[in-house]
Amino acid sequence: MKKTQIKDLTFELFIPEKEIKDRLSELAREISLDFQSEELVLLGVLNGSFIVMADLARLIDLSISCEFLKISSYSGTSTTGEVRSLLGLAADLSGKNVLIVEDIVDTGISMDYLLSELSKHKPKTLTIFTLLFKKDAFRFNYSLDYVGFEIPNKFVVGFGLDYDGLGRNLPDLYQLSTTKK
Ligand code: 5GP
Repeated sequence: MKKTQIKDLTFELFIPEKEIKDRLSELAREISLDFQSEELVLLGVLNGSFIVMADLARLIDLSISCEFLKISSYSGTSTTGEVRSLLGLAADLSGKNVLIVEDIVDTGISMDYLLSELSKHKPKTLTIFTLLFKKDAFRFNYSLDYVGFEIPNKFVVGFGLDYDGLGRNLPDLYQLSTTKK
């Protein structure tokens, strides 16, 4: 089993690059058919989506534009709890077909926030792509339109996802190892 060490943690190979790329090709074909002859805005959620965004964008056979945003979250005062805001969204999304591109949906809290914020921009359509989906952790009932892989509730790194800022450049996807080094 291929392993990699990041800081104090050991990760083992989970989904090889080839399998991810094959799945991205399938989903890109599906997206291209669903939006046939329409324009599409790919809206990547930074930082994790930068790798999947680059691959997906080149596989979609449509006229697309690529935009990015970041969700910042910080602790507010004791009464307001977690405060979120959207950073870096410059494009006008009104009347556009917007496809949110995420690396992973876990509890779904971030995506729920994004959906409510982005719908205020009155896009023509608002759909969701996520490379990974932790189905058992998901707490909402909105639908995810394009899902690469449903995965167990274990921490993963690689293909854009990090552990403490590292590991985003690993070409394959790794999951936290349960066995000793
Ligand atoms: P949410 O719980 O709101 O769906 O996900 C919040 C964020 O947690 C994701 O966008 C992602 O940045 C991070 N996250 C959730 N699960 C994992 C994981 O297994 N690995 C990594 N690297 N990040 C994760």
